[in-house]
Amino acid sequence: MDCWKKLCPTHIYAFNSNGVRRDGNSTKISPILKSDHYNVNHTNDEGDFAVAEHKIPGGSLIVQEYPYVFQIHDTHRKRVCPGCLSSLDGIKPPTTCRQSSCNWKLGYCSSRCETRHWFSVHMYVCPFREYFARNQHLLLAFQMWIRFITAQERMASKISATTKPVTTDVLRLNTLVDNLDQHSEADLQRYKQDAVFLSQLFSFSVYDTKDLVEQLVRYQAVIRCNGFGIQRRMTANHSSRRDSEDRPVLDVKMDTVATSIYILASKFNHSCQPNVLALFIGTQLQLRAIRPILPGQPLYISYGPLAANSPLLKRQEQLLEHYFFECHCQACQVVPDPRLPPTIDQIYRCPHCKYNRVCSMAPACPQCENSIDWNNIRRVERTIRMHQDGEEWDKVLELQLGIYHNKALLVGKTYDQLALQRYMSHRLLDACQYCEQSVQIVRFVYGESSPEAAEEMYKFCGIAIES
Ligand SMILES: [Zn+2]
Ligand SMILES: [Zn+2]
Ligand SMILES: [Zn+2]
Ligand SMILES: [Zn+2]
Repeated sequence: MDCWKKLCPTHIYAFNSNGVRRDGNSTKISPILKSDHYNVNHTNDEGDFAVAEHKIPGGSLIVQEYPYVFQIHDTHRKRVCPGCLSSLDGIKPPTTCRQSSCNWKLGYCSSRCETRHWFSVHMYVCPFREYFARNQHLLLAFQMWIRFITAQERMASKISATTKPVTTDVLRLNTLVDNLDQHSEADLQRYKQDAVFLSQLFSFSVYDTKDLVEQLVRYQAVIRCNGFGIQRRMTANHSSRRDSEDRPVLDVKMDTVATSIYILASKFNHSCQPNVLALFIGTQLQLRAIRPILPGQPLYISYGPLAANSPLLKRQEQLLEHYFFECHCQACQVVPDPRLPPTIDQIYRCPHCKYNRVCSMAPACPQCENSIDWNNIRRVERTIRMHQDGEEWDKVLELQLGIYHNKALLVGKTYDQLALQRYMSHRLLDACQYCEQSVQIVRFVYGESSPEAAEEMYKFCGIAIES
């Protein structure tokens, strides 16, 4: 199963800020959704969803949250600390598990992280590496179960000891949607098999395992619908690219290093053209406004597919298959909002009136109603590909600007290539100008505070300093 970039659920039972569930049953839960910026509304179609309470300026921090549970991906086990997700690159040698017989081959940034990870989950699973190797989500589900059990125990001991409100952990976890009735029979079978297996493994433990199978099945479904992929910037220097002084160019890219559950962020619905961006600082998740949001407007993050780089049908297919819903966001509508960045399907420029959001293969321009010659456009696109293969980026740009919206991501990528080409041939001022164009497009499409924009800015500054 794919671990996507930013994932989140659709239908969640949430509590509004005075702690009253929308079905009217009052609860003693402390207000987990109290925020200066948003409320949670509810409709039958959309379930619960976050709505701006007042005007939110672009860039505002809306939610800041640590994960309920998180689990490092097996592929990153040698490079990232499983206790805090910090990079192990500069740490030689990393701290290892306290058990010399351990075959998980984990490396920790410090003994503090090893201790924390040991008591939160690893002590239970240290001898059982091979059982978890083929199903990573099972280990995350198991962590959810451990938190559930310990919270329950804490609850039981507190109820007799004090009148303070008991922990809300268990109740909060119950607010996450599982969509159990919509998972395929084969998936459910698999969840169940793994759950049965795990409950047998722990049947001699101190805990009561009687509900374990049922819980683990639900948690695996919850993870699929609510799991967030935690992203980190990773560098690799195995690149064959060389700069003008023949130094290797560092490859910097965003990588998903762990899957996690964030309860507050799970209240945000999806849009292919989101107005809220998910960012990770270590394990902390921040949700920030991409652009100004008016009071009453819903707050959307993306669960993965973005209209800027993925076509409509593909987005719909992915969302339905993974999250069980049909997307009706603005970008999935026929008539686009001109204030929003162009989506990948709606970037064509009308040759008659210069309207620049014509949908791919639309018979006529929606503005001037003249018919569109798609044969000609496809011919230009073939020529563009030819010039791309030959790395003739000036030619590519000229042709692209003739047929595409000038802020389309495709055009941005060409500016990027032009910047690189000028940089390699020591024409730093030109490089700087092209890079600036590319920064502008990336900021427009992904938002000013996005990692993508930061990445472009980073390149831009590098060139600007040299020039
Ligand atoms: Zn650590
Ligand atoms: Zn171990
Ligand atoms: Zn959509
Ligand atoms: Zn037109």
